[in-house]
Amino acid sequence: MIAIHPLVEKLEPYSAGIRPEPGVPAIKLNQNENPYPASPKVAEALRRLAPELVAAYPEALSDRLRESLSATLGVPASRILCGNGSSELITLMYRTFAQEGDTAAMPDPTFALYGTVADLAGVRVRRVPTDDRFRFEPAELAASGDDTPRLVVFANPNAPTGTCAGRDAIEKLLRTFDGLVVVDEAYVDFAPEGTSVVDLTGTYEHLLVLRTFSKAYALPGARVGYAVGSERLVRAMEKARETFSVNAVGQLAAEAALGDPDWMRRSVARIGRTRDAFCAALADAGWGVWPSTANFVLVSPPPGGASAPDMYRRLLDNRIYVRYFDAPRLRDKLRISIGTDDDMKAVLDVLLEGSR
Ligand SMILES: *Cc1c(COP(=O)(O)O)cnc(C)c1O
Repeated sequence: MIAIHPLVEKLEPYSAGIRPEPGVPAIKLNQNENPYPASPKVAEALRRLAPELVAAYPEALSDRLRESLSATLGVPASRILCGNGSSELITLMYRTFAQEGDTAAMPDPTFALYGTVADLAGVRVRRVPTDDRFRFEPAELAASGDDTPRLVVFANPNAPTGTCAGRDAIEKLLRTFDGLVVVDEAYVDFAPEGTSVVDLTGTYEHLLVLRTFSKAYALPGARVGYAVGSERLVRAMEKARETFSVNAVGQLAAEAALGDPDWMRRSVARIGRTRDAFCAALADAGWGVWPSTANFVLVSPPPGGASAPDMYRRLLDNRIYVRYFDAPRLRDKLRISIGTDDDMKAVLDVLLEGSR
């Protein structure tokens, strides 16, 4: 028998959300995908695709896309690194900055991938519990253990909770901790203006910000994310990465999407309105609703009625896919991505029927 690496042997397989069978009508609200299609400019760019584009290797560092990002963010292209989704950049950050036996501190709960990839790299994970409303102080993540962690990582807004750490609180962490600080801004376009700390990458050499085209820009299938940091961090990650990561089609789609920021803002505004109406309706019906600054919400059925797993199954019976986490503080809750108004009406019909 072929020996499997012991760190791999120990891993729990990552379970992405269930995919509905092709051709069967379903409402998929389990991976925080955008319910609205990407900008028409993306469709236009994809229609013009010619075989020549894929007959050559892509630009290794996504130069054109980086130039567009540079103009959009006001950050030099040399401080931006594109990846095959931000998931690849999460792997790359451990490979570049952590050694076996180092500690990575993160809030609990947070995005599961930070822990999985750390396990695989032999990096010890320190999970720092969030408060009763799932809030956390970034500075406390670094200060909460016996030793100083090598790096601190969290999503802002956080997943799967939708809570958001303030900019001042993140700056406090940056001033009091000199290890690597990674802020994953996958959902930042949905959060209040001023939440992003991308501009602070010019001030703090130990700050790395991750972004993705998978959520607000509606391109999860294109697999494009990027990291913004100091020259030193970005150059090191460049050395540690695969030569080719973002493929030519992904680069093209992301560039087209970036060229239509108004579309993104309209889509985000619509999702925000749908989210607020959905949350209000559930709260009226006695559900627990955690205020979210992202395109998903964590909700919990009223006590005494059907449990969260029951509700999950009822939704499944109606071909509505949401997320259930069998984890200590989450097993009485569901995480529901925000779809269209019609999607959310269908969800409410099932959930409110179930809790009556
Ligand atoms: C969805 C998500 C990502 C994005 O992953 P991609 O690989 O870019 O699709 C990253 N971080 C968090 C917290 C997410 O929820």
